Amino acid sequence: MARIAIAGAGIGGLAAGAGLARDGHDVTVFDRYEAHLPVGSGLVVQPVGLGVLDGLGVGDAARGLGQTLRRMAGHEAESGRPVLDVTYDPKGRGREGLAMHRAALHHVLLTAAERQQVRFELAAEITGREGTRLRLTSGLTEAFDLIVDSAGAGSVLSPLRARALPYGAIWGNVPWPDATSLPTDELRQCYRRADRMIGVLPIGRRPDGGPRLAALFWSMPRGAFEDWRATPLDQWKAEARALWPEVAPFLDGVAHHDDMTMARYSHGTLRKPFDDGIVHIGDAWHRASPQLGQGANMALLDAEALVRAVADGPLAEAGARMRNARRLHVTTYQMMSAAFTPQYQSDSRILPMVRDRLLFPVAQVWPARSILPPLARGQMVPPILGGL
Ligand SMILES: Cc1cc2nc3c(=O)[nH]c(=O)nc-3n(C[C@H](O)[C@H](O)[C@H](O)COP(=O)(O)OP(=O)(O)OC[C@H]3O[C@@H](n4cnc5c(N)ncnc54)[C@H](O)[C@@H]3O)c2cc1C
Repeated sequence: MARIAIAGAGIGGLAAGAGLARDGHDVTVFDRYEAHLPVGSGLVVQPVGLGVLDGLGVGDAARGLGQTLRRMAGHEAESGRPVLDVTYDPKGRGREGLAMHRAALHHVLLTAAERQQVRFELAAEITGREGTRLRLTSGLTEAFDLIVDSAGAGSVLSPLRARALPYGAIWGNVPWPDATSLPTDELRQCYRRADRMIGVLPIGRRPDGGPRLAALFWSMPRGAFEDWRATPLDQWKAEARALWPEVAPFLDGVAHHDDMTMARYSHGTLRKPFDDGIVHIGDAWHRASPQLGQGANMALLDAEALVRAVADGPLAEAGARMRNARRLHVTTYQMMSAAFTPQYQSDSRILPMVRDRLLFPVAQVWPARSILPPLARGQMVPPILGGL
């Protein structure tokens, strides 16, 4: 039995904590937040991530809160031309995505961790480490056998210096309107070139109930948020409606600028996600824009691979075993994300033309057509070598 400290009670940290404690390890999870009340918007748990939730015994609880996602579709605003059309599971084998409110995913993972008697140290701001002790603003912790760094994109423990991406997005949650013809099981997006994107993602319910929700997002350059906040809300809504009239009932759910939160994206991967006494998982290992909707899955898969690596041999080599099991998947998806993101979020005039006139038509015919569903599902290559 090892004594393991987990830095960050987010998606990867809770999943790793639940799995390691289930295997008999003594797990303490540290997070800066004072109560388990995650804010945030929607995300998609792909079938590979759902497999991890099933393994932790909370897959059905997730399905009960989230919204099955069967298709992702997007069109160009001015021409109306389709530029994205991916059906998750054309053969109907039950391999759809599950769109969720971040709080709902957090809730089911917390349930899994609490069932396994994971200990939590909240209001614990981590500032660094000394060997296998975490340095908190309140002092040093005891020494652990292993630190798992799952502190996300802002991890102070990770040496990763990610490249800031030029575009981010504002995100908000709004009630799913009665007066919409948009389907409740599809992600819909509308683009103007690559410098405007508006999207609607059905995300099911919060864990404490309430109405069915949609995540609404609007792409913008990373430095444009303050200007947006200084512009009257109605001016932005008018621009969005002009681009995509069907989004109007969703915009009605946004009453104040504060209803939308800015998310800035970055891209980068640690070549070696481990060092003496520490393993980095999730966004602390690899960061990407959410264009392919894989970040939460990757964190879940890293957690699963780490749990197996700890079970499979000496603890000192667990990080290397985890990296070897995940390297192919991480490298592939980081490359795909780097290739896809500028086609949908950049100032380029050429890339969106290539996307609309070349890549989309090619993607509609075999063999490219057969690549996109497994890409979306997170199954383009084996997610964990050795099987999931
Ligand atoms: C707007 C947006 C949309 C996204 N959509 C999708 C999607 O559709 N599908 C998908 O798969 N992924 C999506 N992602 C990506 C996904 O959310 C992340 O990849 C995922 O949350 C990473 O999990 P993690 O466990 O590494 O970190 P997180 O879930 O971010 O958890 C990190 C935790 O560490 C804690 N922490 C950080 N620093 C400290 C500190 N110094 N001291 C103490 N605690 C600390 C934080 O409080 C937090 O609880 C999206 C991301 C964004 C921003």
